[in-house]
Amino acid sequence: MIESLPGFDPAAPLLAVDDLHVEFGAARVVNGVGYAVEAGETLAVLGESGSGKSVTARAVMGLVRPPRGRIAAGAVRLRGVDLLRLPEESRRRLKATTIAMIFQDALSALNPVLPVGFQIAELFRVHRGLSRREARTRAVEVLDLVRIPGAARRAGDYPHQFSGGMRQRVGIALAIALDPKVIIADEPTTALDVTVQAQIMRLLREIQREHGTALVLITHDMGVVADVADRVVVMYAGRVMEQAPAAEVYARPAHPYTEALLGAIPRPHLRGRPLATIPGAPPDPADPDSGCRFRQRCSYAWEACEEEPEPVEIGPGRRTACHAWERVSGR
Ligand code: SF4
Repeated sequence: MIESLPGFDPAAPLLAVDDLHVEFGAARVVNGVGYAVEAGETLAVLGESGSGKSVTARAVMGLVRPPRGRIAAGAVRLRGVDLLRLPEESRRRLKATTIAMIFQDALSALNPVLPVGFQIAELFRVHRGLSRREARTRAVEVLDLVRIPGAARRAGDYPHQFSGGMRQRVGIALAIALDPKVIIADEPTTALDVTVQAQIMRLLREIQREHGTALVLITHDMGVVADVADRVVVMYAGRVMEQAPAAEVYARPAHPYTEALLGAIPRPHLRGRPLATIPGAPPDPADPDSGCRFRQRCSYAWEACEEEPEPVEIGPGRRTACHAWERVSGR
């Protein structure tokens, strides 16, 4: 279906967010954010709470709507088709079958008064036109795929009857049911204990490998992405500070904020010592400082930083927005 829509280009990135601006009242919480992800790739979007990473994801999913918020500018393109400029009905149909979201708490996505199997089966009935019986069979298959033990029996259970980890698996089942091309996972493991976190991340990776899905993983935890991300986008105060292949970011950050996030990862050899933190707090999005938004917390700040830095290309697939990037990366 996407092939027949205006702007379709098979050579364009699978998902490209381009110069996105999002406002909530007077606060511009996303300022010119851009990134792209390809089939089979994992892109980690990193940043503290309030960095705009989740709002960007919600805007991509069409979940930012007036009167609370609005997309002031920008584009969200799937293979070149701009979702923000499609008629509502085309956008809804295209989105339902190509892009899905996993929330931090699966309860956000699940209806508490309907059995989980029914909720998944409804997707097959509405979007694939399957009969009630066929849809239920497919729902059980998907629950089985995300390793819900006794899937056929548990399909009749309600969301509150699942543990946190199992409920997150149900949320993943709901997201992958229609075999989307892109999955956006917003802090999918934050509410879970460490063992379950690892299981969920492994499950997401397996699904991604088997289906060639693009995964946009939103997290505040650089430790979580070290093993899974191909590329990393670091956001702060509504802007992209740095983006690069993951291995390069970890080996040689080129932005003081990235460097500070890396410094805050717990490390076994530093056990017993206080965890490094980033002093200060992000600026108020309704009244940000002029100049670099990280200026008040940055140990590299100098007079040039009174002017907001524009992102510059510093290597293949690598950009940073910092006047002192050469000092930071040791070049
Ligand atoms: Fe720090 Fe200046 Fe770079 Fe901003 S532009 S991160 S204040 S060095």
